[in-house]
Amino acid sequence: MNALNFKDYKFLVVGAGLFGSVVAERIASEKGDRVLVIERRDHIGGNCSSFIDPTTGIECHKFGTHVFHTDNMDTWEYIRRFMALNNYRHRVLAKYKNAVYHMPINLSTINRFYGTDLDPAAAGEFMANEISKAGISRPQNLEEKAISLVGRPLYEAFIHGYTVKQWGTDPRNLPADIITRLPFRLNYNSEYYDDPIQGVPKEGYEAVFRSLLSHKNITVRLNTDYFDIKKDLPAHLIIIYTGPIDRFLDYKYGALGWRTVDLDVKTIEKEDFQGTAVMNYTEKSVPYTRIHEFRHLHPEKFPTAGATVICREYPKPAYPGDEPYYPVNDANDKKILEKYRSESPKNVHIGGRLGSYRYLDMDDTITEALHFFETSLKSV
Ligand code: UDP
Repeated sequence: MNALNFKDYKFLVVGAGLFGSVVAERIASEKGDRVLVIERRDHIGGNCSSFIDPTTGIECHKFGTHVFHTDNMDTWEYIRRFMALNNYRHRVLAKYKNAVYHMPINLSTINRFYGTDLDPAAAGEFMANEISKAGISRPQNLEEKAISLVGRPLYEAFIHGYTVKQWGTDPRNLPADIITRLPFRLNYNSEYYDDPIQGVPKEGYEAVFRSLLSHKNITVRLNTDYFDIKKDLPAHLIIIYTGPIDRFLDYKYGALGWRTVDLDVKTIEKEDFQGTAVMNYTEKSVPYTRIHEFRHLHPEKFPTAGATVICREYPKPAYPGDEPYYPVNDANDKKILEKYRSESPKNVHIGGRLGSYRYLDMDDTITEALHFFETSLKSV
């Protein structure tokens, strides 16, 4: 590998995930400046990374199912130049006590769970009654918010156990907005997202990131840790750092809390294991939160290998060396995050999911990267 000649570049992007790759693309093609992208891991694409499983030919998502979805047409107009989506629309099922239900909770979930045959209006009245039994007027946390939306029995069956497994804490300790990521419906719409644009990249995420990073002004270096090279960096470089903010400042105020997941991937000698891409397991006694089956993300392809790839997801706290997924963001995290954010190192911009310590969907990450480029980089 050639030694890096930093003086050839005006910009250094640390991290080849979505935020870093979009920013690099903008710098290269809009500003015409040379940009070096370094990535600690051995692949581009961050946690969106996907690859073709050599045994089955199935496109597998390395860090669990990633479905692109958005209602932001400006963001879509930008990213569609690099990402052609297939026609997959995300639907999730939930297994609870050996029965399968629609998730998010909709009219089918309600009727199946209660053994009723309510129409939307009757279900509305029924749910209002269930919700009023709990008597929550101003929900203060995830549990209260969820019960104020679906009532206690549905909360206990579909939300409490799953949330405890995912976050490792009582839902009363969690912010209400986590649960408002999910819609609740009084009709039979079983789609997971309300967004009009949805799908999985036809050629996989690897191709999307290769395309984003393909400009001649961009150089990508994998297996390169910023902290190993930072002493060699010339003062003129403008740095866009997309790694964890606490790591950047050497954990001087303490480590921020993250959740990560262990993914147990298996090839099964069956054409179809579970009949859908994602099956949630909402009981606390089942140790995983969900099973992914990647072949279903590409309904346009018909694998004939007679085998399928599945992946069980086990959430856990992120320890050093783990890949952080979800910011815990408890009261202590908020306090120390404020301290980290109050520092603004010279010539360095900190952004992205890890840098901003936020639970960002892919489209929000792209939107933020585009906005950041326009407001902070375009004129420098
Ligand atoms: N959730 C739940 N039961 C489910 C699915 C989700 O209780 O079957 C809750 C859980 O607290 C989770 C939140 O809804 O953290 C948001 O779910 P989402 O699917 O958006 O999480 P992600 O796909 O980002 O892991």
